[in-house]
Amino acid sequence: MKIIMTAPRGFCAGVDRAIAIVDEAIRLLPPPIYVNHEIVHNSHVIKSFRDKGVIFVEDLATVPDGASLIFNAHGVPPALVEEAKRRGMKTIDATCPLVTKVHFEAIRYAKAGYDIILVGHAGHPEVIGVLGEAPDRIHLVEDAAAAAKMEFPASARLAYITQTTLSVDDCRIVIDALKQRFPNIEEPKKSDICYATTNRQEAIKIVAGEVQVFLIVGSRNSSNSNRLREVSEAVGCPAFLVNSADEVDASWFRPEHTVGISAGASTPEHVVQSVVGRLRQLFPIDSFEERVTRIEDEQFSLPRFN
Ligand code: SF4
Repeated sequence: MKIIMTAPRGFCAGVDRAIAIVDEAIRLLPPPIYVNHEIVHNSHVIKSFRDKGVIFVEDLATVPDGASLIFNAHGVPPALVEEAKRRGMKTIDATCPLVTKVHFEAIRYAKAGYDIILVGHAGHPEVIGVLGEAPDRIHLVEDAAAAAKMEFPASARLAYITQTTLSVDDCRIVIDALKQRFPNIEEPKKSDICYATTNRQEAIKIVAGEVQVFLIVGSRNSSNSNRLREVSEAVGCPAFLVNSADEVDASWFRPEHTVGISAGASTPEHVVQSVVGRLRQLFPIDSFEERVTRIEDEQFSLPRFN
């Protein structure tokens, strides 16, 4: 068997920052530290913080007044921020700056009187957060068929924004449908799909023609990990999403296969390496290559803690 590891893979600057924020909070603030929803969508990251006493909550009602609360990397609706402040919580915002950019676009368009079409997946925390910025003005659309049926008054001024972790190609199809239906629709100056999502999908597309199977390491609820699996399948390469080494199934491979390995933006590298270790246990590995398709040097600074 041959292995090609794609790079970039795994942690992005937004996930690095969110994890560093929780680490700093553990170091500097009195316990317990609460985090609204999972800080990032990876079960290994969540477990390691739970083991350090961090409490993840889905409902702010379960957080005591005055507690220390971190907002997760996917962002939160402003109503939640206001409630936490009203109840005297010390809040720290781990929202990725690239998600915050989408919030700002929504606010700017809403203030200017636009109706805003948000391309994204219903129920994802990022989408819930952005919708909360202007619930009356933002309209969620998930696919091209729905985009083609949208109705607005002739006088409406329209703009679109998107979730940061979509499939670049699928999103383009929805945007094309929107532009066909609403030729004057305004668009963000730069794509809302983030650099990390774009680069990891690009790497899969470059390598997919050389491998028989792709393994994507990431948790089931990780949007960008799921998109990586779909991108591989869309270009004809079977792909499997595994959260950990014990999920690797020998029946997916043959000894003569070349296997591609990538990981979603919230997956720690040690989990990726344990998956490689599992493949080494199952098959003799003849060659191992790291294929760097793009260099990433993005870094985001941490917020102040006082
Ligand atoms: S995947 Fe993109 S938007 Fe999400 S945390 Fe990483 S850099 Fe930010």
